[in-house]
Amino acid sequence: MSNRRNFLKKSALIGGGILLSPLAKAELSIPEMISNSEDSIFLSTWNHGVPANKKALEIIKSGGSLLDALEKAANVSESNPKNTSVGLGGMPDRDGHVTLDAAVMDGKGNAGCVCFLEGFENPISIARKVMEETPHVILVGEGAAQFARSQGFKEIELLTEESKKAWEEWSKEAKYSPEVNVENHDTIGVVGLHKGEVAATCTTSGMAFKMRGRVGDSPILGAGLFADEEVGACAATGLGEYVLKSQTSFLVLELMRQGNSAEKSCKIALERIKTKFLDPNPELEFQVGLVVIGINGDYAGYSILPGYQYAITKRGNTELIDAPYLAKRRG
Ligand code: ASP
Repeated sequence: MSNRRNFLKKSALIGGGILLSPLAKAELSIPEMISNSEDSIFLSTWNHGVPANKKALEIIKSGGSLLDALEKAANVSESNPKNTSVGLGGMPDRDGHVTLDAAVMDGKGNAGCVCFLEGFENPISIARKVMEETPHVILVGEGAAQFARSQGFKEIELLTEESKKAWEEWSKEAKYSPEVNVENHDTIGVVGLHKGEVAATCTTSGMAFKMRGRVGDSPILGAGLFADEEVGACAATGLGEYVLKSQTSFLVLELMRQGNSAEKSCKIALERIKTKFLDPNPELEFQVGLVVIGINGDYAGYSILPGYQYAITKRGNTELIDAPYLAKRRG
């Protein structure tokens, strides 16, 4: 392990408020010192992050790995038919098909992504299989579905009565207005720090009534999520086109690498989107929200507009936080 990593991990302990005598510090290895669930930190986007984070903690307590915890956390939102932006019950595209995007990345650079996947409730679990069972990073559409079948995933109808009704209602006018809900029903991104390791997951049904074949930021490394064991893990939610064009998750981590705090890094990355895409277009309004955890335990959630919340779990407690934001809504 490089000296820099050691340094970052040591400062994690100080940042996390773990006080040890100099002797204890010298005697314990880093993984031993941060090995229990009390010392794990999870952050998830939106209020459905609360049950997701609780699931992550449960998995850690029962001896699961960080990746197990993040996968199962994301599964909670994917399998909830009331969540209309993820997995089962997700809003369909303009042709009435629910198409899903998901990705997972760990701090060592292992990653798996699925895009434009139809008919499977838990795309994050399929993305993890792409990471662990294939030599590839991204599988798309029918190829991703074929792979999912080969891994034993069952096909189901993702369109619920409720999402079908919403689509039929929308079809009357068929007016596409890509809005990211400020009422907490969007993509789930989950980032975590456990035993000195970081990872990120992100899973979504994407923008409601999008064009068929549209893929957003959520399954794209650097945009919807990124993880690097030297710095931390970040995930994004919001209007994916702008997150893609700004490589937001990667940028946040690079800003942290340069020594900025988690919160300042989010703020600078979101300001870049605002300055480049929002400010010059008075007609435009869109939301982007972030969650980030540093390898040193520094964490943040931030958004462009008010209304974004994130869930944080640390020392075994889970809280829902109103994220700081850059600007008021235009009206
Ligand atoms: N980022 C997602 C997308 O553009 C949407 C969301 O976060 O709700 O597909």
